[in-house]
Amino acid sequence: MLKVVKFGGSSCADAAQFAKVRSIVLSDPARRVVVVSAPGKRTADDHKLTDLLYLCAAHVKYGVDCGDIFAMIRERYRDIARDCGLSIELDGEFDALWDRLRAGEVSKDELASRGEYFSAKLMAAYLGFDFLDAALWVKFRFDGSVDREASYEALSRAAGGRRVVIPGFYGVMPDGHIHTFTRGGSDITGALAAAALEADVYENWTDVSGILMADPRIVKNPAPIRFITYNELRELSYIGAQVLHEGAVYPVREKHIPLNIRNTNDPAHPGTMIMETVEDEQDGGDSFITGIAGKKGFSIINIAKTGLSSEHGILLQVMEVLEKREINVEFILSGIDSVSLLVDSARVSGRLYEVLGELQKELKPNSITVAEHIAVVAAVGRKMANRLGTSGKLFAALGKNGVNVRMITQGPDELNIIIGVEEKDFEQAIRVLYDSFVKE
Ligand code: ADP
Ligand code: ASP
Ligand code: MG
Repeated sequence: MLKVVKFGGSSCADAAQFAKVRSIVLSDPARRVVVVSAPGKRTADDHKLTDLLYLCAAHVKYGVDCGDIFAMIRERYRDIARDCGLSIELDGEFDALWDRLRAGEVSKDELASRGEYFSAKLMAAYLGFDFLDAALWVKFRFDGSVDREASYEALSRAAGGRRVVIPGFYGVMPDGHIHTFTRGGSDITGALAAAALEADVYENWTDVSGILMADPRIVKNPAPIRFITYNELRELSYIGAQVLHEGAVYPVREKHIPLNIRNTNDPAHPGTMIMETVEDEQDGGDSFITGIAGKKGFSIINIAKTGLSSEHGILLQVMEVLEKREINVEFILSGIDSVSLLVDSARVSGRLYEVLGELQKELKPNSITVAEHIAVVAAVGRKMANRLGTSGKLFAALGKNGVNVRMITQGPDELNIIIGVEEKDFEQAIRVLYDSFVKE
């Protein structure tokens, strides 16, 4: 039995969190491969080490002294080492890094990666595990994608059945330079390690008891999701629920490794189990939807033209106009005489009237209207497919609570219902959905 366990920034924030990690890891002999993030915030107004490192890199870029910030970073690790009673010596490495930094020899990626590097050094010493550098096995191609085959092979060889701590977030380019994932990328390192070593489970330890049914900043005490399928998770993440880096799903899913989100501050809680399929008897509960998510910042372009749906190639024409300007259409809703396109406002900003002008010229529609400041809210759930009247119920609940629905659409696999509302109604819409579908 092998469990690959990844601990996020808040789990590595200080010595008290390190102690929780140790007791979790040592309580189960199967937890032999540990991936860590850089120390995160200790309190709400604290700084993540990764943010401080990026700040340093920005100073260096503009030739501004960053001695104070660098000293702060070094101090954070010193504090953890001291408070954990570790005798490990990092000063030599910090001095060398500082010298190279001032000489302009450290790239932004390399500097950012040191957050997890030093975190892993300390954690390895604290757990009595071996430190295993991600630079030895996470192999990127020049286009920034991961060469999974080469990476898996390198890790199986390097790990060799030992108990190890691996820094998350980075790897190496073919030329040996350090390269990082996008923010939150330690999740991916953990997933790659789990896939490479064919782990029985990938545990991702964070500061919430799993994926919650709604954003906790909007809904008070939302219930954690006990079981969720990979497809449902994709839908939720796409529309705004950010707990796990998107790139972490593919490696484990491909190898049929279940992913378990757990809470470092509440290790007895089972958290969320993400799997290919969930049996009805497994989730026990009768909650009809799995989760709700959403985000603001959209615009809806409505094009009306008599007989539009039977006119050959018209949708293609619309898409071409948008494509030319690299504007993605997030959702599309077409009727007999009209089509509505939901687009990211930030991507059309400044070009909206130019786009509308061209659509007008190309399509000669009866009318084109635009609704800006739109938010999208999605209810996601594998059980929705089997229930009649969901949209009706949704409309009624929203209407009763004064939320005006501007658009509604359901995915072809009936895994989600997506509604467009005005941004001012965003929070209210999420609460109404939660109250009517979860607390029903
Ligand atoms: P880590 O540092 O452990 O990787 P993250 O900050 O990346 O943790 O992710 C966990 C955070 O995601 C939670 O603290 C929570 O604020 C936020 N979050 C947003 N939406 C949700 C949701 N639906 N369920 C759970 N957490 C959510
Ligand atoms: N430390 C990195 C970040 O803050 C990576 C991670 O935590 O996953 O984005
Ligand atoms: Mg994260």
